[in-house]
Amino acid sequence: MADTHVRTRNAPSPTGVPHVGNTRTALFDYLLAKKYGGEFILRIEDTDQDRFVPGSIEKIYQIHDLLGLVRDEDPVVGGPFGPYIQSQRLEIYQKYASLLVGIDAAYPCFCSEERLKSLHEKDQFAKYDRFCRKLTSEEAQRKIAAGEPYVLRVKLPETGFTIWHDLVQGKLSLPNNECDDKVIMKTIGIPTYHLAVVIDDHLMKISHVLRGVEWMASTPVHLFLYEALGWQPPTFAHVPLLLGPDKSKLSKRHGAKSVLEYAEDGYLPEAINNFLFYLGFSYKDNSEMLTLDKMVEIFDEKKIQRQNAIFDIQRLNYLNSQWIKKMPIEDLFLRLNTYIPADWNDEKVKQILALVKERMFTLRDFAPAAEYFFTAPVVSVQSVLDQSGHSEKETVSWFETVKSVIKDISDFNSTVLHDELAKAQAISGFSPKEAFMSLRVAISGRSVTPPLFDCMVILGKDETLKRLSAIIS
Ligand code: GLU
Repeated sequence: MADTHVRTRNAPSPTGVPHVGNTRTALFDYLLAKKYGGEFILRIEDTDQDRFVPGSIEKIYQIHDLLGLVRDEDPVVGGPFGPYIQSQRLEIYQKYASLLVGIDAAYPCFCSEERLKSLHEKDQFAKYDRFCRKLTSEEAQRKIAAGEPYVLRVKLPETGFTIWHDLVQGKLSLPNNECDDKVIMKTIGIPTYHLAVVIDDHLMKISHVLRGVEWMASTPVHLFLYEALGWQPPTFAHVPLLLGPDKSKLSKRHGAKSVLEYAEDGYLPEAINNFLFYLGFSYKDNSEMLTLDKMVEIFDEKKIQRQNAIFDIQRLNYLNSQWIKKMPIEDLFLRLNTYIPADWNDEKVKQILALVKERMFTLRDFAPAAEYFFTAPVVSVQSVLDQSGHSEKETVSWFETVKSVIKDISDFNSTVLHDELAKAQAISGFSPKEAFMSLRVAISGRSVTPPLFDCMVILGKDETLKRLSAIIS
């Protein structure tokens, strides 16, 4: 690595919101570049206009921004090797396509859609039968001159093996006769992925092509093109798939969403990054909370896991809860803004946050846990009696005692409340559980809350008295 200037790229196709697996790959690309002080580049691979989904490019930016994957070069900031959108580079591809035909590394194919379809009907996995490869160049020229539509196909070797060392998968060897003479240029003069990716990775001086393993089978085609053009290929690193806990292909049913949806669901970008990192990289017991900087420090491209990674949403929940616990209240408060009603008092929200953050898994958990502090709950008498274990009369009398104790407290804090109410409970005939659980339900409507006296302090003396009066009457 010492003499390589590392440049990596995330090269999504704008065909929808990137899947969590693509984002994991983008993170690894970023880490690899930053580990070696290199550049992380975003290139939009939009040669397949039929699959273009409006809005997806914006989502790609949003994902990078959310996770802090700062781009050194991209379609907006530009860079020395732009443009960074393939649809703006068509002339470049056309030039190299002609060159490839000229050196007999590509050939025109005149086969009709119907003919290709019938090949596939016979065998779904059929490769192109190389029919047009047999045409002489005179025959091909005659057809072109006559205006017959054609595509260009790569002229792969028919024998031998393509061998390369993959940074993740190790030494790989694929028999050439299993590879397809892929289309590299479509009839309309637009390249396919296979041609564009090679040309761009070369011209953009990409040192490492770190991408999903689904592209591994295409690598012989790419390597052939590098060789034909006399270019040094980059280092390839094919990262494994993400699978659901049942080992099937990851899908929505396993809780997989786009990273933007997780953020909307109240997951912190720090936790999402952390989670993605462990999907393919192991560090200590995989529960350590890692910042992006720390990930850069410990990332090692040679230690990316080769086996498929299991996507477990519980791990994301765990990491998110850890990050929430660790985050200072002021910071956490700023993250809450879209998850709470606008009229909730900021100071009160912060006080409650300090009490409930230990139990939050996502930012969305806050509002339901805090609601009763802002709106008096409807409390059923029966739910209070269930906790008190005493008659209605005795319970009312206990609450009256509590009210009078509270009224006399001038310094309304949880220590004083604890001391004074414990004294009152001791002579009440109620056990501590009966006394304080009934009180808890009476003021909050719930049997599970943060410590009772802390809750009373946040509610304030007046509101606590009001809620007791309400249940008494
Ligand atoms: N455009 C391809 C995709 O969206 C990128 C493949 C590659 O990284 O070479 O997955």
